Amino acid sequence: MSVIGIDFGNESCYVAAARSGGIETLANDYSLRATPSVVAFDGKKRIIGVAAKNQQVTNMKNTVGGFKRLLGRKFNDPHVQHELTSIPARVEARGDGSIGFKVNYLEEDQHFSPEQLTAMLFTKLKETSAAAMQTQVNDCVIACPIFFTNAERRALLDAAQIAGLNVLRLLNETTATALAYGFYKNDLFEEKPKNVIFIDFGHSALQVSACSFTKGKLKMLASTWDQIGGRDFDLAVAEFFTKEFQERYKINAKTNARANLRLLTEIEKLKKQMSANSTKLPLNIECFLEDIDVSSSMQRSQMEELCAPVLHRVEQTFKRLLAESKLQLDDIHSVEIVGGSSRIPSVKQLIEQVFNKPASTTLNQDEAVSRGAALQCA
Ligand code: ATP
Ligand code: MG
Repeated sequence: MSVIGIDFGNESCYVAAARSGGIETLANDYSLRATPSVVAFDGKKRIIGVAAKNQQVTNMKNTVGGFKRLLGRKFNDPHVQHELTSIPARVEARGDGSIGFKVNYLEEDQHFSPEQLTAMLFTKLKETSAAAMQTQVNDCVIACPIFFTNAERRALLDAAQIAGLNVLRLLNETTATALAYGFYKNDLFEEKPKNVIFIDFGHSALQVSACSFTKGKLKMLASTWDQIGGRDFDLAVAEFFTKEFQERYKINAKTNARANLRLLTEIEKLKKQMSANSTKLPLNIECFLEDIDVSSSMQRSQMEELCAPVLHRVEQTFKRLLAESKLQLDDIHSVEIVGGSSRIPSVKQLIEQVFNKPASTTLNQDEAVSRGAALQCA
């Protein structure tokens, strides 16, 4: 029997396990390491992960993603209301004020809470891990954002319990990253502390922490965060293209949930290409709305302008960390980046500006959190 470490991301999950002296990230039923945090219903079928994401555009009403940030909260919570603006599924307040996603499943309308959806996702992770390791999986360590409240943590534990997972520990994502780093670098630590900054910039959150490492010991010095992530870049760019298409083609993507989702999907791809390429790149969507094919383009510098307010918040979060940790720039050994959005070049530039060090990629940017969680139980 094995223990798994789970990184439950707002966009995707990773699972790792300690095996024969090393840590291994496990592949799912599609031989992929990332499992999208998406749950869908189709007739009598429950579809989870890669397959759920793949069919979202054609089954929008019965497909739910983005529920990580809704755990342990009531429908009327302003934070929930804000999150719901970017989730194109049917949702309502239940009698007790809780959140209920309304989907058609087993030929009737049913309501599922964020905890139940998370449990379905965890069940899938448990199954695919068991298949990958060819052994039963019951115990796990789950990573959660450092800013999760007690209510959010309890909801996460409830979800794991519904999935039949025994949670040995909930671990902050920032700590998991630091543990993953410490595991590989331990031999290099001495009596004199080495201070390392960790930056996790994901889909919905930015978490920054300062840690000090001495031989065999890790001390958290300070942590800061902001509720911004890759999705905020996508939204800023979507706003721009929506306006452009309105002027050029007289169509409004916002009036059609499916068109809006397709636009965001294409923009996410474009954003990733812009991280690797600073030249102008095309954006084409066939039969976007009213049978009209749309086409446009963007280059990195333009995206940076559109996303200036988000980048400003990134910079402020970095500066707060520096102030709160009381570290001088010379005291910093390295700045390690993880999370998908840490690949954005202007984020790396801000790191150099604020910390006077290039962003370092010692860790696997996607897998570090799950690997740290797996290490915790090794
Ligand atoms: P969270 O930590 O907020 O719960 P998550 O762990 O699911 O979310 P990650 O998997 O770390 O998030 O990152 C996903 C985000 O990173 C998405 O917004 C994605 O568009 C973005 N991303 C991934 N690769 C790149 C890239 N090459 N360039 C720019 N952004 C990228
Ligand atoms: Mg994450």
